[in-house]
Amino acid sequence: MSTYAAPIRDMQFVLNELVDLSAIRALPGHEEVTPDLVDAVLEEAGKFAAGVLDPLNKAGDRIGAKLENHVVTAVPGFKDAYRQFVDAGWASVGGEPEFGGQGLPHVLSQQLSEMWNAANMAFCLCPMLTTGAMTAIRRHGSDEQRATYVPKLVSGEWTGTMNLTEPQAGSDLSAVRTKATPEGDHYRIKGTKIYITWGEHDMTPNVVHLVLARTPDAPEGVKGISLFIVPKFLVNADGSLGARNDVKCVSIEHKLGIHGSPTCVMAYGDGDGAIGYLVGEENRGLEYMFTMMNFARLEVGVEGVAIAERAYQHALDYAKQRVQGREIGVKAGDRVSIIHHPDVRRMLMTMKARVEAMRALAAAAAESLDHALSSADPEAKRRGQAVFDLLTPVVKGWCTEHSTLVASIGVQIHGGMGFIEETGAAQYMRDARITSIYEGTTGIQANDLVGRKLAFEKGVTAKGLIAAMRAFDAELAAVADHPGLSVMRKALSDGVDALDAATDWLLATFPTNAKAAVAGAVPYLELWGTVAGGWQMVRAALISKRHLDAGTTDHDFYRAKLATARFYADHILPLAPAHAHAVMHGSVSTLALNEAMF
Ligand SMILES: Cc1cc2nc3c(=O)[nH]c(=O)nc-3n(C[C@H](O)[C@H](O)[C@H](O)COP(=O)(O)OP(=O)(O)OC[C@H]3O[C@@H](n4cnc5c(N)ncnc54)[C@H](O)[C@@H]3O)c2cc1C
Repeated sequence: MSTYAAPIRDMQFVLNELVDLSAIRALPGHEEVTPDLVDAVLEEAGKFAAGVLDPLNKAGDRIGAKLENHVVTAVPGFKDAYRQFVDAGWASVGGEPEFGGQGLPHVLSQQLSEMWNAANMAFCLCPMLTTGAMTAIRRHGSDEQRATYVPKLVSGEWTGTMNLTEPQAGSDLSAVRTKATPEGDHYRIKGTKIYITWGEHDMTPNVVHLVLARTPDAPEGVKGISLFIVPKFLVNADGSLGARNDVKCVSIEHKLGIHGSPTCVMAYGDGDGAIGYLVGEENRGLEYMFTMMNFARLEVGVEGVAIAERAYQHALDYAKQRVQGREIGVKAGDRVSIIHHPDVRRMLMTMKARVEAMRALAAAAAESLDHALSSADPEAKRRGQAVFDLLTPVVKGWCTEHSTLVASIGVQIHGGMGFIEETGAAQYMRDARITSIYEGTTGIQANDLVGRKLAFEKGVTAKGLIAAMRAFDAELAAVADHPGLSVMRKALSDGVDALDAATDWLLATFPTNAKAAVAGAVPYLELWGTVAGGWQMVRAALISKRHLDAGTTDHDFYRAKLATARFYADHILPLAPAHAHAVMHGSVSTLALNEAMF
């Protein structure tokens, strides 16, 4: 079993060289985010992830959370780890200083999320959803709601949940049926929510549920959904805990992975109805919940990066130890570890290249979000939000789909031992599998990308990013004599052409034949991930070349970056034209069969 080591050097590279950290530091409230602070935070977080969370990951999988008499008991060790997490201040890193948080920018807190998730994703879901709930209440709640709930959620003293799904309402939330009946200054909530992550547990004294429900006269569909705060224990005027609310966990799911995270069926209002407090205005609940969901979608994309990184480290460790066969082309050599075999190298490089591209792309999305949230310049704010909106479904969909594939390659590198649970490789594959399902499946992310993020704004942001990629080509032209970089330049340029062509086709097709356009939505999302990830990799290669030319002492790191980017250009970027073909020509065969023909 390998031990997790946070990829601090690569995170430093992403933060200091790919992201414009000085521009983040110039944003109001982020003046203290110096490279020294970044290093210190990454170092300490890496120790916590490796020392406290990683050792509990396997027990979380094997033992799982337990339910008895509506009480969920966390996996042994989780409660203590959560206390340490809160006491060390990790729960509050992203919270705003006015509510007791440390106000770190998203680009930095995202690296910490990656560490927590890589070490123990099941555990990390609890603080992640808490941050999402806190964000939604802070933005849309009343002053009183903010004062009552936000500081406790920021500190991690209480945790938060997100209650959308019902048996008949999964991807389609217009079908939500949970009822909210007004009663004085509150509402009575009745209904059943399913699959609620960390919906009930014993790690904190209170749990704050954010619940979607309908008021009696609400219109049909998504325009009739409101958002309510439903605390497990009601909160007295002095902030102390009062009566138990009428909400309980009635079962927890037996599932493929993340066994340490209780996935709860929650019954609201078996008695008189759970007391809930309206957030904002009636019928605007889904809009408010999107505050939480957009953050959560980015975070789930980061879960994908994290599990892929963990699976890579695990496979690399095994590949260095497992001795099997002799090195090809070496006569009468000794038996060697499998890392000497070209095909094992290919698998390891695929894992490494994909992880680094995903990490860089997720950071680009977080960088835009920081500008959107904190810039004092309205134009920079607008542009940051537009880029974040476009990249969110890409990071969520692409990083999670490839997380499962990367973890599966990790199993393959282990051979038969990968299929045996003791090695842990299988757990990463099982845990990764949920990431492309919850917070909106890949199909839903892709529909969002094509419909809302591309067609709705007539491709303005997408075309702007494509133009930025083309402008980068001019920088590459200046180093055309470097053989590796010229190969990368060509692969990126072909990829950008493919993305541009598919974008034009979708913009022309969506208004007249939305079905054909949406049939190519997932290939289009793949195309975006492949090309935008490639853009980041080639940027990394150019930066690395400059360091090597300048005689850096860190040459192993920068040479590895150049080689990894070259691998991406040889093996992954050439997939872009195939994805574009599927977007532009694939809908006919996708839609050819009628139901009887399947
Ligand atoms: C472990 C776990 C934890 C979860 N945690 C939470 C939580 O904390 N809170 C919460 O509210 N929910 C949670 N969920 C629910 C999760 O968000 C949903 O499962 C997910 O959104 C998919 O909904 P569904 O399962 O009903 O699938 P369905 O909506 O039935 O989808 C089935 C398939 O149809 C496709 N599909 C459906 N509609 C469309 C469409 N319009 N276009 C294209 N394809 C479509 C989907 O992509 C999918 O492949 C969790 C689920 C699990 C398994």
